[in-house]
Amino acid sequence: MQQITSLKQMQAQALQFKREGKKIALVPTMGALHEGHLKLVEVARQEADVVVMSIFVNPTQFGPGEDFEQYPRDLAKDAKLALEKGVDILFLPEVSEIYPEGDQTQVIVTELTRGLCGPFRPGHFRGVTTVVAKLFLIVQPDQACFGEKDYQQLKVIERMVSDLHFPVQIIAVPTLREADGLARSSRNVYLKPEDRVQALKISQAIFKVQESVAGGQRKVSALIQIAKEILSSAPDLETEYLEIVDTKTLEPLEQIQKEARVLIAAHLPGVRLIDNGALSV
Ligand code: AMP
Repeated sequence: MQQITSLKQMQAQALQFKREGKKIALVPTMGALHEGHLKLVEVARQEADVVVMSIFVNPTQFGPGEDFEQYPRDLAKDAKLALEKGVDILFLPEVSEIYPEGDQTQVIVTELTRGLCGPFRPGHFRGVTTVVAKLFLIVQPDQACFGEKDYQQLKVIERMVSDLHFPVQIIAVPTLREADGLARSSRNVYLKPEDRVQALKISQAIFKVQESVAGGQRKVSALIQIAKEILSSAPDLETEYLEIVDTKTLEPLEQIQKEARVLIAAHLPGVRLIDNGALSV
């Protein structure tokens, strides 16, 4: 596995792969790797000749008062996991190179970022789309893998790729969970053991809504009520949003008709958790 920090070197290497007719798959991450990230690498491996994983804790997607400084960083451990999983290039750009002095260009996706996490994390998606656009231009992947765990992010990236005609195929990878249902996340390390059982209420609420839809319930207000009851049984869990939306527009629905998604964001002391699940009829 090669480690590359320089943008120019990464871009030159990507061009060389292209000349050799090799397909490149990119797995963008912020590090603190877990099984969810490694699943993305597995999928990337099936699709491409060269797997590039980027690790970049992107400052522009963190708001004031968020956890940019404390975000878990362990490069030695990440590099070992990436190597074991068969990553070919670990791309580790510097903040000062990604955002050169005087930088004033951003990529903004409008409608899809208005709801869900949008209002609670102002500027977050603009930071994500801007950095992903830069990574695409540097690494020039044929494919890029993103997790359904960050469902709104996935939809926003798909929109950006389509609107800006990036020649990149976006591959969505289902959420990897712990045995008890908790969605894997780099931020789970912030969870105190006594809070973990409360965190489980989020995935339990999602599974219960999925069961109810499978059992014939189509009314969103009833489904929301079912989820609320489960979430409210955790005394310290503060729900930020609980919504059932159309998978294309991310607009709230009243009835489940076709493809829908239930999404939850909630806080426990010192940690914000998000999760979601598919609802299909
Ligand atoms: P992050 O390092 O948190 O920015 O995540 C990097 C990529 O891994 C994103 O595409 C995430 O959606 C994806 N990811 C994070 N957690 C999971 C998970 N539990 N299952 C699948 N993909 C995930």
